[in-house]
Amino acid sequence: MRKIKFAAVLSKPLCHAVFVLSLLPVIAGCGTANATKSAGAKVHPENWKLGSSTSLIPVLKPEVIKEVRESGIHFIEIGWKDHNLEGSTFADRMDYAKSVFAQASAEGITIWSTHVPYGKNFDISNPDAAARKNTVALVKEYIDLAIEMRAKQIVLHPSEPLEESTRAQRIINCRESLQELAAYTKGKGIALAMECLPPNFLGRSSNEMLVILDGIEGVGVCFDSNHLYPEKPEEFVRKVGKRIRTVHIADFDGKVQKHWMPGRGAVDWNKVIDALADIGYSGPFMYEVVRRDKETHTFKDLKANFDSLRTAWSNSKTSRR
Ligand SMILES: [Zn+2]
Repeated sequence: MRKIKFAAVLSKPLCHAVFVLSLLPVIAGCGTANATKSAGAKVHPENWKLGSSTSLIPVLKPEVIKEVRESGIHFIEIGWKDHNLEGSTFADRMDYAKSVFAQASAEGITIWSTHVPYGKNFDISNPDAAARKNTVALVKEYIDLAIEMRAKQIVLHPSEPLEESTRAQRIINCRESLQELAAYTKGKGIALAMECLPPNFLGRSSNEMLVILDGIEGVGVCFDSNHLYPEKPEEFVRKVGKRIRTVHIADFDGKVQKHWMPGRGAVDWNKVIDALADIGYSGPFMYEVVRRDKETHTFKDLKANFDSLRTAWSNSKTSRR
């Protein structure tokens, strides 16, 4: 594993205390986090391009990438956890990144984003300072890999599942990690995107996400439509606004993440599409669907689903006139 130098970033305890106190009303959900003030120009969903995470394309080789392009997918997200690279060295992963970039480019596919692995070794809010430093160093390696693949966004989880009593301190830890990582990415043409996550993680609501990112420049948000509860996905989109730089599209039962194909679950897609259009989201409509149990869909089914969502949205507009 490559060794990376990193600076210690621990702030003074007093700053921690003042910061936590100032956050408490917002963390409790009764404050008014400063949502994006100016929504962008409305974007027409007809102009969105289709994307898919490697959650549905776990094996990347030239013949598969050709099929991906032929199925109408223009953008992909490389989810590092989807590939069998456990135990690999940084040099191995760099070789893989170069190879995947070359293959995708040859087919006219853009690697829009990468997803940093998650799990106990990848918790940027870890209460254990030494473990957190190791994580930040590892994330820097994944930033370097994403740059090699010319990705624009690096999706990162704000935490692993947490004990509720540690939430406020973890927000502080997460912000410290993010400040260091934002400085590392500055000027490199790439940005981190913090993913909203289910209630037992950090990033569970628009309020909390805006607190985590407050004052940290160069870090955006990955909106995952199947992670939010009890806040509705469309409410999250409108409150976080322009800080949303990328998306994970999937359906769920309204409470627990499922990564279903849109249409199977409780998400009101007309409202989500409306909200994304209203904030001026112009990145790809990036599916992060997982095939479970007896499900048979593949990445080849995404285009039809994407078209049906946009047709239904368009019809809903017409019928409201
Ligand atoms: Zn996701």
